[in-house]
Amino acid sequence: MKAAVVRDFTKPLEIEEREVPSPEPHQVLVRIECSGLCHTDIHAAHGDWPVKPSPPFVPGHEGVGIVEAAGDQVRHVKVGERVAIPWLADACGRCDFCVTGWETLCLSQHNSGYSVDGAYAQYALAHGDYVVPVPDGVDPMDAAPLSCAGVTTYKAVKLAGARPGTRVLISGIGGLGHLALQYARIFGAETVAVDITDEKLKLAEELGADHVIDARTQDVAHEVQKLGGADAAVSLAVSNASFRAAYDSLRRGGTLVLVALPAEGELTLPVFDTVLNGTKVIGSIVGTRQDLAEVFRLHQLGRTKVIRETRKLEDVNTCFDEVLGGKVSARLVFDMR
Ligand code: NAD
Ligand code: ZN
Ligand code: ZN
Repeated sequence: MKAAVVRDFTKPLEIEEREVPSPEPHQVLVRIECSGLCHTDIHAAHGDWPVKPSPPFVPGHEGVGIVEAAGDQVRHVKVGERVAIPWLADACGRCDFCVTGWETLCLSQHNSGYSVDGAYAQYALAHGDYVVPVPDGVDPMDAAPLSCAGVTTYKAVKLAGARPGTRVLISGIGGLGHLALQYARIFGAETVAVDITDEKLKLAEELGADHVIDARTQDVAHEVQKLGGADAAVSLAVSNASFRAAYDSLRRGGTLVLVALPAEGELTLPVFDTVLNGTKVIGSIVGTRQDLAEVFRLHQLGRTKVIRETRKLEDVNTCFDEVLGGKVSARLVFDMR
């Protein structure tokens, strides 16, 4: 099988020929149909974060494909079923986080395309209990971005408290942001979209953003404060300056939800203002299997639209450059069929 492999944080990925792996008793072997390119894969390949993956490894945590073989302990999915392989490759299933709906915080978790090989390959192994079935009527090319960009922003927008009567700022209308904007609208919020490219600002308008702000030419916080301030802001842009702009856009009692993870991600906050304004600053990491099932259900009902372009896995390195150069309509998806 073909796989894109990170061998060195400073070098391009290599396309390698590998043996198709065999599943352990708790695993499934998935024949990958498509695999989304999340900005996280670029951080992984570059070793951007304090906790680094160990090369050689195969990135990819927006994998969608068909179960080709299953170990004898696998009960919940069957051979022939379409499943998604998300970031949460597995968790312990027993700790207080796992049993209270916070499996994404489990200290014993593994992560697809990071601590275990991911979906930038024609086949991938996954834990039978942690793959999420993709329902009929959801195009696998849409299911791929929904498996990280979708579930992550669905969760973040829920944590933001979006509901009718609230104003929610979405900072960065990329792979994650274009879905965040749609979830905020589904939850009934007034939406403010911020980006720095003409294409993304146009996309935000097409997706129905109530207000669109160009962070290149406009003072984001000033513009949002003129509207009355944001009840919540979801930070999805890979830029430290954007975090502070989002924080400064909040009204009293507002919530900043941090999601993007730049290489040297830092946000300095004034304690006095944060206290007096009763501001909440929270981090949000992906979403649970249940969140992803809800994301697929919303898509099946026609409530969301995935903006994507198709690419070949062989072009992975130019694809990384396209994303970093802001040249992508929203999400790139490798079609491996
Ligand atoms: P992306 O590159 O597709 O989107 C980023 C967007 O931000 C682009 O549209 C870009 O034009 C815009 N942008 C850049 N600078 C800006 C600025 N100053 N103000 C406003 N917009 C700006 O990336 P993505 O795949 O959507 O991922 C975004 C980030 O989220 C990455 O750091 C990724 O690692 C992280 N991420 C976090 C989680 C999580 O669970 N916390 C999950 C997935 C991805
Ligand atoms: Zn991701
Ligand atoms: Zn656990």
